[in-house]
Amino acid sequence: MRSRFRYYRPTSLSEALDFLALHGTDTAIVAGGTDLMISARSGDLQCKYVLDVSRLNELRPVAMSDGLLAIGSAVTHAEIAAHPVTRDVAPVLAKAASCVGSTQIRNMGTIGGNIANASPAADTIPPLMVHNAKIVVKSASGERVEYLGDFVRGPYVTILKPGELITHVLLEPMMSGYRHSFQRIARRRALSIARMNVAALGLVDGNGVIQDLRLSVGSVTPRPCRMTVAEDVLTSNKPDKKVFWEAAEKVSHEMVRWSGIRPTTEYKKPAVEGLVYRALADLFLSEG
Ligand SMILES: Cc1cc2nc3c(=O)[nH]c(=O)nc-3n(C[C@H](O)[C@H](O)[C@H](O)COP(=O)(O)OP(=O)(O)OC[C@H]3O[C@@H](n4cnc5c(N)ncnc54)[C@H](O)[C@@H]3O)c2cc1C
Repeated sequence: MRSRFRYYRPTSLSEALDFLALHGTDTAIVAGGTDLMISARSGDLQCKYVLDVSRLNELRPVAMSDGLLAIGSAVTHAEIAAHPVTRDVAPVLAKAASCVGSTQIRNMGTIGGNIANASPAADTIPPLMVHNAKIVVKSASGERVEYLGDFVRGPYVTILKPGELITHVLLEPMMSGYRHSFQRIARRRALSIARMNVAALGLVDGNGVIQDLRLSVGSVTPRPCRMTVAEDVLTSNKPDKKVFWEAAEKVSHEMVRWSGIRPTTEYKKPAVEGLVYRALADLFLSEG
């Protein structure tokens, strides 16, 4: 049976926060609805109210602010993919956003919804991790800022409390000279959520040595993290295929360390190694 609830659309952020202060425990926030409406249709959504934040202007900016890129939680994947500022200072995020689902999903689905839903396969999460993203959360009583790796506690679990909503996400911009890569494996090309995804940023110095490498892999650990074991293998080395495979193996070891050997490991281990290798080769060996 479909879920039953009262729909409420505030006209300002303060109205939304006042509503949440009164009804937070009985309210589900909705932005694009691409995740939430599936639960509503299946009857899994248990709440008295649905609060629609998709049209709040306060949640829709994309702009540089105090040296960080601020992206409002209600900004859609299509907007992130096309926006000149995200394409310029966070191209790995713009690329990931352009890969989400289908045109319809990208037009409706938002970055805030992607983060709050906290699917291990969420496409924006690895790119946000390599940009050291922080999540800005507001309630009627104040604001807090959390690193994304702390905000997501596990698959589909965050530290968001009743009465709070995500207003925006803050990213360190990609500095000049860095290269980026986003790779994913999905079940089908469109309309499917990635089974695994990789975001990487890298900088090579004048001697051809990797000076900085940032790597995050979706769907291999219970909560988002940077693959520092693999980053350490690469940093201070010259990019070559042998070192790429070494780093890729570190990632698959990390996956097994977190989740143990499972029936899916036989497929996931070579898949994640191949995907990480592909990202590193794209980062350092491809033209442009
Ligand atoms: C067919 C299909 C294909 C898809 N393909 C992909 C894909 O390729 N990659 C991918 O990553 N995802 C994919 N998704 C999942 C989904 O589209 C994304 O996670 C999307 O970004 C969710 O955003 P939304 O605005 O629609 O979230 P909603 O459905 O509105 O909300 C999702 C969750 O986030 C909460 N929420 C929303 N906004 C806020 C806020 N501002 N503050 C606090 N909580 C909030 C809601 O309460 C809910 O729990 C797909 C979904 C479908 C149905």
